[in-house]
Amino acid sequence: MGKKLYKLRIYIHPIDNCYLNYYNLLMTKIINVIKGTHDILPQEVEQWHFLEENALKIFSRYGYKEIRTPIFEATELFARGVGDTTDIVNKEMYTFEKSDRSLTLRPENTAGVVRSYIENGMSRLSPPVKLWYKGPMFRYERPQKGRQRQFHQVGVEMFGVKDPTADAEVILMAVNYLKALGLNDLEVEINSLGCPKCREEFKNKLKAVLKPEFNNLCEDCQNRYEKNPLRLLDCKVENCKAIFEKPEIQKVIQSDFICEECAEHFSKLKTYLDKLGVKYAVNKLLVRGLDYYNRTVFEIKSNNLGSQNAVCGGGRYDSLVRNLGGEDTPAVGWAMGMERLNSLLPTRESKKLDGYIVSTSPADAFELAEELRKDGYAIEFDLTNKKFTKQLEKASKVANYALILGEDEIKAGKVSVKNLATSEQKTVSRQDLRSIL
Ligand code: ATP
Ligand code: MG
Repeated sequence: MGKKLYKLRIYIHPIDNCYLNYYNLLMTKIINVIKGTHDILPQEVEQWHFLEENALKIFSRYGYKEIRTPIFEATELFARGVGDTTDIVNKEMYTFEKSDRSLTLRPENTAGVVRSYIENGMSRLSPPVKLWYKGPMFRYERPQKGRQRQFHQVGVEMFGVKDPTADAEVILMAVNYLKALGLNDLEVEINSLGCPKCREEFKNKLKAVLKPEFNNLCEDCQNRYEKNPLRLLDCKVENCKAIFEKPEIQKVIQSDFICEECAEHFSKLKTYLDKLGVKYAVNKLLVRGLDYYNRTVFEIKSNNLGSQNAVCGGGRYDSLVRNLGGEDTPAVGWAMGMERLNSLLPTRESKKLDGYIVSTSPADAFELAEELRKDGYAIEFDLTNKKFTKQLEKASKVANYALILGEDEIKAGKVSVKNLATSEQKTVSRQDLRSIL
């Protein structure tokens, strides 16, 4: 599998139409899944349901409602929303033209949710407006472990609250969601990027101290130096990381550049998190890859994921709603990568059927199956004329109970029920069957 298959038969007489079709069929190239994308197969899908069901359960407790926005949007939404100095917009978007419009497959969902919030007048609702989403995102990145070109995110956005209680609540909810999935030993990192005003001063200081090192920085860092110097701190290149460790540069990075108001916001957030028992570390290098954040940013990381170790990223984005044409609205949110979550979870066993009917009379099996399905039981029976013993074998693999409907049982209007875990078997009336299942 995975390889392209070609089959050639050159001895077939080409004039015979029937043979020609056969020839064409054999010549057909097998089409494979696109690099960086993957199928979610039936044996994996229950794991996804587990993530989604827990999202609905936990987020509902906090008053969130699900929103589903389109998978493609106007390209301009991401250029303005995510920011045109970001890798996502510069290098990673799947963009196409249709009827003279430039459209893009969503690389993330915050911009789409904000567009919908504005377009549907949600600012008229009493704040906070709490929304969550799940679904596929598309980024043209180099595929590797933990990094696909089509991947899935589950995420939340809260609109209308300036106070750091909102930041604390979304972080707490992320932690509680992860706990509900059974993931307890993850690390929460937080930082404050300040506001555009105090950040400006920091950017200048950072640029000044990095200037002598400019030629030693990687190409990406050199490109970002003017446009978005804060992003340099996020660089994963070892040589750049070593440069940032230099004492004079560390002094700037570790300095408390944020203004009094931003510092108060950050300190309140930490107090709330302490009170709520959320463990965290302050990481001054945490800047996040998207342009729209201000003040709080955070990530949740795992030590079991290799180099793509972030499961969750988020922060506050108080100017995004206004930048996209809405009213001034503070907002905070996060997104988690569902593939990365899945890779941290133990594989789940497929749910079994309640019963598998073993019978040599398909008509009777069909009737019993439908009767039980109507009452909500998951039932299957043999549709392929298998022998009795083969049917029993299949039942033991796929169901909790074998419902044996032999000639004697049919005559007596009864069913023999075999518990496939204990091998216990008894014959009961059809009515009593339900109490066993
Ligand atoms: P990373 O630093 O891993 O590139 P990011 O900062 O680009 O992450 P966000 O845009 O904040 O990520 O997305 C939130 C989460 O979505 C990430 O923490 C990660 O779990 C997941 N994610 C992002 N990009 C990918 C991808 N290409 N493939 C799989 N998961 C991804
Ligand atoms: Mg990324």
